[in-house]
Amino acid sequence: MAQVLLKDATLVTPQGIIQSDLLCDGGRIAKIAPQLSAPGTPVLDCHELLALPGMIDEHVHFRDPGFPAKATLASESRAALLGGVTSFMDMPNTDPPTVSMTRLLEKKAKAAQQSVANYAFYLGASGDNCEELKKAPPREIAGIKIYMGATTGSLLVEDYERLLEAFKAAPTLIALHCEDSELIAAQERRVKNLYGEEPEMALHALIRSRDCCLNSTKLAIALAKESGARIHILHISTQEEVTLLSEYLYGNAATRQISGEAALPHLFFSAADYARKGGLLKCNPSVKNEADRRALVAAVERGVLTTVGTDHAPHEAALKAQSYFKCPSGCTSVQFAWPALLALWKRRELTLESAVKACAQQVAERYRIPDRGRLEEGCYADIVLVNPALPQSVDRYDLKSLCGCSVFEGEFLPARVVHTLVNGVVKVKDGTLCSEESGQALYFARD
Ligand SMILES: [Zn+2]
Repeated sequence: MAQVLLKDATLVTPQGIIQSDLLCDGGRIAKIAPQLSAPGTPVLDCHELLALPGMIDEHVHFRDPGFPAKATLASESRAALLGGVTSFMDMPNTDPPTVSMTRLLEKKAKAAQQSVANYAFYLGASGDNCEELKKAPPREIAGIKIYMGATTGSLLVEDYERLLEAFKAAPTLIALHCEDSELIAAQERRVKNLYGEEPEMALHALIRSRDCCLNSTKLAIALAKESGARIHILHISTQEEVTLLSEYLYGNAATRQISGEAALPHLFFSAADYARKGGLLKCNPSVKNEADRRALVAAVERGVLTTVGTDHAPHEAALKAQSYFKCPSGCTSVQFAWPALLALWKRRELTLESAVKACAQQVAERYRIPDRGRLEEGCYADIVLVNPALPQSVDRYDLKSLCGCSVFEGEFLPARVVHTLVNGVVKVKDGTLCSEESGQALYFARD
């Protein structure tokens, strides 16, 4: 594999922020030192660019197979690289759903052909596939995904005993969507009675209320304790859940039994944004108020929330433009992942070091992905180079995601991804995709 020399970058490393050169060789970071020279090696001038580990996005819905008008592995992996995401872990609510290893391996084979980013896939709990879960090889799968509440039809697993059975059957980390579906149904009925069939979008935060999340997160923690399962609660959206989780943080990212993720929409937007964003901001769990948003960002900064994922979940623009009950939930965001996190850094809400930990280093630790998620000699050269002084205003026409709309359109982001390297290959150069080479399957170093 070819060499590439990055000259004079500002590197965010586990040892601190340093000005240095970086040599990629054989897909890995071969050397980090000032004034490196490698005659004949292609050079990227990184003067005034920030070098960050590529985001390992633990939470995407690339909708493949089954929804070619929304997204494909090919389209979204390309959008991901433009947002500085070099690896992704894809959720099982595809069609057919990924509830058997046969299906999962089919997705993996397709990604090997079509994904330009590194990839891994979750195995979904369906309520009646415990035997499949038990025999799943922990080194081959991102984790077991369990929906505690109703969001995706057949993936619904509500009954406590069946949930407990699934928790016990999981051979590795369980990623959880926590919302109380009965409470949601009751609040939907109440809103329909009061406001009719087309209530305003801001009511999403009341229909999918903070209690929906808190009840379900408490249930998940109880089930983890009873079963002994290791859980990772996705897209935490309320201050109360942050407080709850802060009581269970024993050990580091690798060894904790219970941990939580913050998702990009909840870190970047608040309920005040429903009026201007409309259906583009409708996602589950709902985006709550500004105090929650601040609490979530602070929790990422303090390490109370271990990881950040995008929860990239595209739907066609025409569907997202519909009225509240017709509008499907999910935000399109992967193309703006690193620039959005850098907006939080520029606002002094998040430090660069914490952002790197949450979206790369600690994801690798939590999921046990060796040699990724940090800029260190010997690690895979998954690197994003960002110009922190080159702002962008996001236009719908710039979107590479197939669905053609994003919650980030109309936003002004203070930084741009300039180059992205995956396994030492320059795949985005000067903001443009320049390589079709496939990514690699993520490997999980689990017993
Ligand atoms: Zn999701």
